[in-house]
Amino acid sequence: MHELTKDCIFCKIVRGEIPSKKVYENEYVLAFDDIAPQAPVHTLIVPKEHVVNLEDNPSPELLAHLFDAVHTVAEIKGVAESGYRVVQNNGKDAGQTVSHLHVHIFGGRSFGEGMV
Ligand code: 5GP
Ligand code: ZN
Repeated sequence: MHELTKDCIFCKIVRGEIPSKKVYENEYVLAFDDIAPQAPVHTLIVPKEHVVNLEDNPSPELLAHLFDAVHTVAEIKGVAESGYRVVQNNGKDAGQTVSHLHVHIFGGRSFGEGMV
């Protein structure tokens, strides 16, 4: 196994080596609740394939699968109608702490109009 994926937290979650609260899964992505939720709903969606972030040349297909899962997860978590925020961090200045591409889904409260 490649070193990058062997030691990657989210690859370990995908392989079932670290437990997670699974929300949704298909052939391409896994969604699970964030371990330190910052909103009543805080779920992460990750591609099963290891890609660091948008600077790591993810394929258009991978990105499509990642974002295609968003509305399904929002539905499952009960925020599709009330609304939700999608955040995806890339690199140091964005505060990316896990080097495996992931989308955050925040919901269950109002976030107002400010973005950052
Ligand atoms: P980032 O800051 O990289 O965009 O977000 C990484 C997120 O992963 C953080 O919100 C953090 O709480 C979450 N996280 C880190 N380690 C784990 C873990 O082992 N399990 C789960 N479920 N979430 C994790
Ligand atoms: Zn990984």
